[in-house]
Amino acid sequence: STVPRIVILGAGYGGVLTALRLQKELNYNEANVTLVNKHDYHYITTHLHMPAAGTDDPENARVNISKLIDEFKIDFVKSTVVQIKPVEKKVILEDGTLSYDYLVIGLGGEAETFGIPGLQQHAMNIRSINSVRLIREHIEYQFAKFKREPERRDYLTFVIGGAGFTGIEFIGELADRIPKLCKQFDVDPGLVKIVNIEAAPTALPGFDPELVDYAVQVLTNKGVTFKIGTAIKECKPEGVVLATGETIPAATVVWTGGIRGNRLVEQAGFEAMRGRVKVDPYLRTAQYENVFIVGDCSLLFNDEGKPFPPTAQIAMQQGVNCAFNLVASIRNQPLREFKFDNKGVVASLGKGEAVGIVFGKKLKGGFAAFMKKLIDMRYLYIIGGIGLVLRKGKL
Ligand code: FAD
Repeated sequence: STVPRIVILGAGYGGVLTALRLQKELNYNEANVTLVNKHDYHYITTHLHMPAAGTDDPENARVNISKLIDEFKIDFVKSTVVQIKPVEKKVILEDGTLSYDYLVIGLGGEAETFGIPGLQQHAMNIRSINSVRLIREHIEYQFAKFKREPERRDYLTFVIGGAGFTGIEFIGELADRIPKLCKQFDVDPGLVKIVNIEAAPTALPGFDPELVDYAVQVLTNKGVTFKIGTAIKECKPEGVVLATGETIPAATVVWTGGIRGNRLVEQAGFEAMRGRVKVDPYLRTAQYENVFIVGDCSLLFNDEGKPFPPTAQIAMQQGVNCAFNLVASIRNQPLREFKFDNKGVVASLGKGEAVGIVFGKKLKGGFAAFMKKLIDMRYLYIIGGIGLVLRKGKL
């Protein structure tokens, strides 16, 4: 047939929004759209810090893809992509091959360890439903083990590498969870240590300094120790070694200090910096006009020449833009440049506490936490309508 084939890789923020928009905009038989994802669910990464700390159920951070897309309009394939072959216009899956006329890559990010020895092997990451289940179970197990070996204080030491948004949000939840775990396992809360280590000269680098101070104060009051301006030199099974020479014995290390694009895009031969492929303002790769990249795998510079950060907000807006440009390409109409509409950011600091900038206004405390919940619900509404808000949303 002459109907163009569109293949979307990854059902994250970018991929899902691309699929939803295509489903809405394309006419009957105008294109065949296939969405590929390694799981049959989409995960709401912006919730993952909660199930990781054990303050919420992982079920609340995922949605079945069949509940999001119309399978009469989009073919969903549950499979893992193993190779992208742009010259041959093919994608190799673990169990088959797909050919495309247009490709959208939305395979998301991976942890970047900057070559720090041992981080890959001995630290855990907050990335997926599976990875946060592991962190939660691991934390509980340390409390159980401590009861049998009470001299092992390292079981009760939790090191979090990185004080970016993910690290700070996780620490906020963990600090809320610790008192409950202490009660449950009859452990003196004074024995537990949460240590946040950040190489940059400030927590939440690049964020408003007044809000950073507030966040650090809230978390310090909850018992968190900050080591800012301190690099991790090595991660070992028994703890971390800092650039200062200090060693922190810890049975739990969670690394949130860096993000890179998916390795598959580098292996495909696209020009990439840390797994992020430079795209033109229409979100196409320089080498292939029929390959679009959205979200954490893409590298796009804003008007000031700075790269857009890897965020869900940007991935979603890129998905919308990408779908528009796919439809325009098929219809031989002009493409539209990606323009970022910054709605702001909010970082939660545990129950009832957050900091953020929304519509240019600084927010902190309970009101910021309320805004965070509204943003979460808005997202559920965009992808799954009111039904999803009622099932997964929480005020
Ligand atoms: P992702 O959402 O990561 O999706 C990638 C998809 O590809 C996944 O479904 C994955 O399973 C699939 N996949 C990967 N590899 C393969 C493969 N080989 N084969 C098949 N499928 C594959 N951003 C914000 O804007 N606001 C926030 O508050 C915020 N909070 C965050 C909190 C945490 C704990 C984390 C980890 C991130 C947070 N982010 C936040 C960042 C945001 O989650 C990412 O920028 C966003 O998810 C990127 O979207 P994406 O579409 O590029 O990829």
